[in-house]
Amino acid sequence: MQKVFIISTGTELLLGTTLDSNSVYLARQLEDIGIKVVGKATVGDRRAQIEKAFHSGLESADIVISTGGLGPTFDDLTKTVACELMGCIPVLRPEEEKRLRDYFAQRKRPMPEINLKQAMFPPEAEVLPNPQGTAPGMYLRHNNKLLILLPGPPREMTKMYLEQVKPRLERDYAAELQKVICRTIKVLGPGESQVEEILASLMDNPRGCSMALLAKEGEIHIKITAEGVDEADRHKILDEMSQAIHAKLNKHIFGYDDDTLPQKIGKMLAASARKLAVAESCTAGMLGSMITEVAGSSEYFWGGVITYSNECKMKILGVRASTLEQYGAVSRQTAEEMARGTLQLSGADYALAITGIAGPGGGTAEKPVGLVYIALAYENGCSVKELKFIGSRETIRKLSAKSALDLLRRHLDQQGG
Ligand code: AMP
Ligand code: MG
Repeated sequence: MQKVFIISTGTELLLGTTLDSNSVYLARQLEDIGIKVVGKATVGDRRAQIEKAFHSGLESADIVISTGGLGPTFDDLTKTVACELMGCIPVLRPEEEKRLRDYFAQRKRPMPEINLKQAMFPPEAEVLPNPQGTAPGMYLRHNNKLLILLPGPPREMTKMYLEQVKPRLERDYAAELQKVICRTIKVLGPGESQVEEILASLMDNPRGCSMALLAKEGEIHIKITAEGVDEADRHKILDEMSQAIHAKLNKHIFGYDDDTLPQKIGKMLAASARKLAVAESCTAGMLGSMITEVAGSSEYFWGGVITYSNECKMKILGVRASTLEQYGAVSRQTAEEMARGTLQLSGADYALAITGIAGPGGGTAEKPVGLVYIALAYENGCSVKELKFIGSRETIRKLSAKSALDLLRRHLDQQGG
């Protein structure tokens, strides 16, 4: 597997005023095509810092990719320093000089001579055009190392990566890149450490496979990467690992790769020609919003009601005053009556209801912030689940909506579709 080291330069990145989004973007992109990120450095616009970063990058990886510091001013040192370490000397390229002079002439501005720096590249380098700015990038292969320099502004950087760098990497490393295949298995329900525990035996003995866990808004994504001698071998390793994970996590798995939970629900409902309605208290529309993220959801989504107050729960869904009085709005009994009321109101095949305490206020010792009940009603029954979430109001609401979808998914799974 090819190894890459990412360097972000810019003093603003160290001051905490600018988020280093470039390195996150690049890491994701490079991982996606099968290039392993082995390290990252964020440094200010100081020669010593930049030197140190490139030095360790070239030492630990085959490819070093950096962003920022390609501007014309004295503190834009990236190209100068990187070329020195690679043992290459930038010289003026007449076609780049012309491009720069034209750029300034078009804007009717004089060109400061200092800008000529941006027209200088080692003879071995490929220049990466930057249609959105004055700083071109650079792709330099020398002494078995590859150095890629990209501009700092994220808009320029991403465009240059996608249009200029990615095709070159795929060209230069075609043979190696094809050696690696990945799959992501997505889980909702158990927490990260629980998943880790369940998969421990597979992690210790990954049979030509590497495994990484990523926790994302209540979901756990298990990314498996397989390297094998040939394509059939790689697929075999990946399939075996997928099956082994499936055997252990089974019904907790809701999808693979780009699948989302709302999509999965949509597919299942559409396949069985069933309709879904919802009633939301603490999520107030978030569940409906998630369901309708999927194009074509009108096929199976009846709609929903936001029943935030007790009065609304009673008037629209027929929740009994005595239930609210005796058990409270956030209770198993209220959730059930909300779901049953929604089923009746809509005539849909399934009704999901959510009621909970999203906080930050409103919790008690008996009913703390994060206590949520979700209910699923269907023709001959109703199931209710009690959940306890920890986090901000936003997190609790999101997790509640997702868990409601997951309750339905598990039910549909059990019904066989
Ligand atoms: P530079 O190419 O170094 O002149 O950077 C120009 C601008 O790009 C900076 O002022 C930042 O706003 C932005 N920038 C530079 N590096 C990064 C980075 N790693 N992530 C996000 N934005 C960046
Ligand atoms: Mg800068």
